[in-house]
Amino acid sequence: MEEKKNIPINGGYPLHTFEEVEAIYQNYISSPEDRKQIRAAYDFILEKHKDQYRKSGEPYYHHLVEVAYIVASLQAGPATIISAFLHDVVEDTDVEVEDIEKRWGSEVAKIVDALTKIQRLKLSKLDAAEFEAEDHRKILIGMAKDIRVIIIKLADRLHNLRTLGALSPERQNAISKETMDVFVPIAHRLGLDRVKSEMEDLCLKYLEPEKFSEITKLLSHKAKTMGKSLDSIRKRIADILFENNIHFEIEARVKSIYSIYAKMYMKGHPFDEIYDILALRIITDTAMRCYEILGLIHKTYTPVPGRFKDYIAMPKPNMYQSLHTTIVSGNGNFYEIQIRTKEMDEVAEVGVAAHWAYKENSGYNSRREQQEIEDKLHWFRDFVSATNESAESADFSNISRDIFEANVYVFTPKGKVIELPNGSTPIDFAYRIHTKVGDSTTGALVNGVLVPLNTVLKTGDMVEIKTSKNSPGPSEGWLSFVRSAQAKNCIRKFIAKKNADVLRIEKIAKGRQSCLDAFKDRGIDEPDMMELIDSPKVLNYFHFDNIEDLFIGVTNRKPIPAAILEFLKIKKQVSLNVLGGQKRIAPSNTPVYCRGGGSRLAISLANCCTPIPGDDIVGYITKGKGISVHRKTCPNVAKEENRLINVYWRSDIETSTYPVDVYIEANDRPSLLVDILSTLSVAKVSASSLHASTNNTNFVVTITCTLMVSDAKRLSDIFNIVQNVPGVFRVTRMIH
Ligand code: MN
Repeated sequence: MEEKKNIPINGGYPLHTFEEVEAIYQNYISSPEDRKQIRAAYDFILEKHKDQYRKSGEPYYHHLVEVAYIVASLQAGPATIISAFLHDVVEDTDVEVEDIEKRWGSEVAKIVDALTKIQRLKLSKLDAAEFEAEDHRKILIGMAKDIRVIIIKLADRLHNLRTLGALSPERQNAISKETMDVFVPIAHRLGLDRVKSEMEDLCLKYLEPEKFSEITKLLSHKAKTMGKSLDSIRKRIADILFENNIHFEIEARVKSIYSIYAKMYMKGHPFDEIYDILALRIITDTAMRCYEILGLIHKTYTPVPGRFKDYIAMPKPNMYQSLHTTIVSGNGNFYEIQIRTKEMDEVAEVGVAAHWAYKENSGYNSRREQQEIEDKLHWFRDFVSATNESAESADFSNISRDIFEANVYVFTPKGKVIELPNGSTPIDFAYRIHTKVGDSTTGALVNGVLVPLNTVLKTGDMVEIKTSKNSPGPSEGWLSFVRSAQAKNCIRKFIAKKNADVLRIEKIAKGRQSCLDAFKDRGIDEPDMMELIDSPKVLNYFHFDNIEDLFIGVTNRKPIPAAILEFLKIKKQVSLNVLGGQKRIAPSNTPVYCRGGGSRLAISLANCCTPIPGDDIVGYITKGKGISVHRKTCPNVAKEENRLINVYWRSDIETSTYPVDVYIEANDRPSLLVDILSTLSVAKVSASSLHASTNNTNFVVTITCTLMVSDAKRLSDIFNIVQNVPGVFRVTRMIH
């Protein structure tokens, strides 16, 4: 048998019954139907959780009644109390959300559904290193979508903390830490001071047990020594207010253990220098009265300079209003006095719940209530606007439309949280990760399933992006469904650049052609032209960095080709021999010969397989047009054995270039053509024609081009170079 720890029932807190919950809400909920539905929820969970027990050994329903008790104390409406009872029933029993909807309607079903999803997320079990507390809070709020869900979640956590004694020390620590990181800031922002303070004290007990008990001891000593003088101040003030006919209540209040801990260990104040450990709180009717009371107190006691704070004129962001002053008593002790109205006190204690508290027959409308809360809570506005793209945040009406649906929070596969505007898709997600990821996205998995790229993401989705360096890049169509301004900008930028690339290629080709025409006029073919003009001398003279820019310049007629010829001092009909004094054969003179009878026939190189020196060749005797030279592998002559004749490359020819038709296949990507062209240019290979087309289903680009090459060895070098251009997977010679 496992040894049972001696755990007090309900963590030592008073255990409540359903009737006690009922006694609270009956004060403000009188509708018989609402009361019946709440009772039905209690009966329902009693039955459904009947065989379940908490770690402490208590029946499970205790927890549900306590959570309902906490939300009823905050004057929650019937839907909230019902949902508080039902908050674990979908997660822990066979009940489905649809069952809840049938019995209690869609409002309750939505709240319970959100609570179930938050529960399933198991925030505390996510990798802490990857997961910021800030993200926890955003996810919680993003998933809640309704302030009532958050209130129930806070009540749920508060009760779990009260009964934390039943869990292992590791769990106690983890839950306390998570509470401090996630739930306490939310409670603080909502102004739920009572909940926040109790959570902090409970967590401190587990996180810093020694300091917790040290402060507890100091505090009880202080109460003993100073309690008496505080009491006499209380009586004196009461007398003064009574004499002045002011309606008031006055109570003593002790600073929370956690607040003292924070002052001592986070701000470094010794216990004896914390002046507001014991305070008096005076509650009156109107704000005017508050100032009046302050005046009377300052007349009687000396105020401590610099400790007066007017939160009535300048409320805190969480709507807290009060006057604070610190006075010196006759024995030299300092006491803080807080003065506020009844309404201000309610807001201070229960924060947003004071505004949100259920008011029967007031036409309660959760959407309107949320709007009201939003208007009052600057924090929500800050929260929302801080998380929106700056371009979009200009549209404030858009933001205030629905604060809880303004953002979705999704996970990377590593558990990192990414925040996106509502309606975002995997493409928005990809661009939020990195521009490069967005630009190379080819597919997306949401919760492990391959989905279309325009799928709308929901909070809690786990998104994985498939990328490929061969991706064609973003398409214009993406603009129709992406939501974030960031993604839109990136896509537009990419498309603009692509268009500019295409334009650039066109301009280069046009300029090259103009030069070619001009040089051909002077009897200079392309390779020689390239040798002449792709030189530092020419480029420097015309102020271009490279030959491509020079061609673009030519297209823009700055300079015109004649100016280049002029600079090179090339006149018409200049002999090619000027080029390094080489002896060249005329282009019309074929570098192939045959022996015997064929020697008198005209010999030409076939256009279908474009042979070049070094290729294995064969001659084909055409009908009346002499001999055409084919590669031996050319299928056009394979079956013509009796018309074939042996031909040979001349060994005495000087370097010239011959057209070779080449076929390139590549995966499409931005700048592919530019890269291929510039690679050829660097290798000093000219292309006399180039045609590219893209297959829109597999994004493979096929390029056919005619390269000017001297021989087979050189061609194989060129193939190697082109093969190394990223994306290119096939380079072959063509046979037409
Ligand atoms: Mn629970």
